Amino acid sequence: MTQTDTPKLVFDTDWSYAPAPETVPVQIDDRYGLFIDGQFVEPGDGKYFDTINPANRQRLAEVAEAGKADVDKAVKAARKAYDNVWSKMPARDRGKYLYRIARILQERAREFAVIESMDGGKAIRESRDVDIPLAAAHFFYYAGWADKLDYAFPGKVPDSLGVVGQVIPWNFPLLMAAWKIAPALACGNTVVLKPAETTPLTALKLAELIRDAELPPGVVNIVTGAGATGAAIMSHPDVDKVAFTGSTEVGKAILKSIAGTSKKYTMELGGKAANLIFEDAPIDQAVEGIINGIFFNQGHVCCAGSRLFVQESVADIVIRKLQDRMQTLIVGDPLDKNTDIGAINSKPQLEKIEYYLKVGQEEGAKMWQPTCSVPDSGFFCKPTLFLDASQSHRVVQEEIFGPVLAIQTFRTVEEGIAKANNTPYGLSGGVWTDKGSKIFKVTSKIRAGVIWANTYNKFDPGSPFGGYKESGMGREGGLHGLKEYVSLN
Ligand code: NAP
Ligand code: MG
Repeated sequence: MTQTDTPKLVFDTDWSYAPAPETVPVQIDDRYGLFIDGQFVEPGDGKYFDTINPANRQRLAEVAEAGKADVDKAVKAARKAYDNVWSKMPARDRGKYLYRIARILQERAREFAVIESMDGGKAIRESRDVDIPLAAAHFFYYAGWADKLDYAFPGKVPDSLGVVGQVIPWNFPLLMAAWKIAPALACGNTVVLKPAETTPLTALKLAELIRDAELPPGVVNIVTGAGATGAAIMSHPDVDKVAFTGSTEVGKAILKSIAGTSKKYTMELGGKAANLIFEDAPIDQAVEGIINGIFFNQGHVCCAGSRLFVQESVADIVIRKLQDRMQTLIVGDPLDKNTDIGAINSKPQLEKIEYYLKVGQEEGAKMWQPTCSVPDSGFFCKPTLFLDASQSHRVVQEEIFGPVLAIQTFRTVEEGIAKANNTPYGLSGGVWTDKGSKIFKVTSKIRAGVIWANTYNKFDPGSPFGGYKESGMGREGGLHGLKEYVSLN
């Protein structure tokens, strides 16, 4: 064989994977009513709206729009169930129901994951590995507390509050429902919950599951609708406590509507989390953490690390590695197991993100996106960096809720902390360094409810979660989350 005969190694420059769609069959009805008093009922004024799949704009189902009278019916059912059944039931039996819900959810996890990805657009890897397992874990965790409340609050007599009104957003639809329903029920309260308009399906499937688990009618009521339905729940005079997760703007409006009443409240609101990478950080690990923190889940995460501060001496290498990694991210079909970044939840949300991409450039930050392709079948957005951003830029100060990362540098620890704290929000943050002492110093100085060190977006039902400043008040998860659903005497 001569040298010219040597077979050439041919590298395929197209590194795309073969499609690997999740194939579990799911049952989505054409139309869903309101889940009130243990059964699905028609809305009083007969109004329905569509919920669509944001990856292909196709209609998935028609969902009832609850008016004030429907909300009133749901609150009355919850009150009756509270007075006659749930608050009187031995605590260990309440626990058994919660365990039952947790187990069925675990058994049907794959089906719930697929529906979550279809209705909301998130990549199946996220809903399969994070959302649904964590939702089941929350039911398991709070099931365990139901008959141990006296140990949870030693020296106190914990008492349930009554009827709880709960309104949740579209970014973690089933997980937020679990965060709300599980502790409320464990403590002996009954609930009326509204999922977000664009992602009602897993909450409605949960209603079916709750019915199958033979939970007494009226203990959990799930009513669908838009903002007005949420407002009707929050301001209903017979609701004893309101629990809200969503934007700071709506949270403020709800607080105004309940001012002067005796309602208890918890508010889990917006965020603009900062990650700080120090020069002694494990750089590759930090880059992967940043990618996970802002790009997976399309940046639709309240605690998304949307601001990055890099110590000046390592800024060039961090940015280069971030860009290299972003170049490999796959934006595509949410049901494909290879997809890193699924669909943006709705058209208005995509328009909001695109608006901020324009604003960022007009303000003078340098926009960078990878060369990846993006499907044109639905609402998709490329992962985006803003380089040379500054503290006054709106893309640094305002919550975009999309796959957009603004990068700045710092020189000293104090400067990094000051920059990280320069926002009205205080939900979460991250610090990347080799030095334990630096971790302790930085985490104690950053005003945020959760700060991860050398990792990001890690959740456990036993850990409390919640914000400082305009990110909210009250905590969810752990013992702190349990405390929000009892009065202690
Ligand atoms: P949003 O617009 O505030 O909506 C949240 C929920 O409130 C939805 O169910 C919404 O219904 C409903 N709603 C709208 N107007 C209302 C009103 N006047 N009274 C009562 N309810 C009303 O927020 P989003 O855009 O869905 O979610 C994104 C926001 O949630 C982000 O700011 C994010 O940071 C925050 N979030 C916070 C946490 C946390 O734990 N801190 C967790 C997740 C998300 P419609 O769906 O029909 O509009
Ligand atoms: Mg939808």
